[in-house]
Order: sequence, then structure tokens, then C-alpha cells
Amino acid sequence: MDERRTTAGKAIHVARSEAERGSKAPFLVAYADPEGNRQWGYVCSFCDSTETAMDTMGRIKCSRCANVKKPDEWDAAHE
Ligand SMILES: [Zn+2]
Repeated sequence: MDERRTTAGKAIHVARSEAERGSKAPFLVAYADPEGNRQWGYVCSFCDSTETAMDTMGRIKCSRCANVKKPDEWDAAHE
């Protein structure tokens, strides 16, 4: 786990071995605690930003560089 701070100053713990495939670069899974019990969200590995959000469709999007993880169903339907 790598300890990081969000733009709001909160300490989070990034698991480099866990990632979701994004359109530009993977999103790394981040946890609120060092043991990895409580998931906090995702860190964009393209621009190293913690400013990511998941919408109701299950998409993860970086608000800084527009890196996006599309829902799994999207790939199956369009490829
Ligand atoms: Zn980004």
C-alpha cells in the first residue's frame, strides 16, 4: 500500500496490485485504512489524481484528465 493524500488532505492507501482498466491508464483502488478493509475510491494513474468519481452506471471517471473506465457491459456490446 502506498499512502497518499487527497486534494482535501485526507490520507488514503493505494493498492498498486489492484486496478481497473481505464481508457488512458488504469485506475488504482484506494482504501481509507491501511489494512484495505474500507474502500475509499480510485486514483487515476494517468495524471496521478484522486479526483475520480463513479456514476450510477458504474463508470469511473477522472475529473482532471477525462480518463474513464467504462462498465464491462459497454465493451461487450460495442466490440
Ligand atoms: Zn486522470
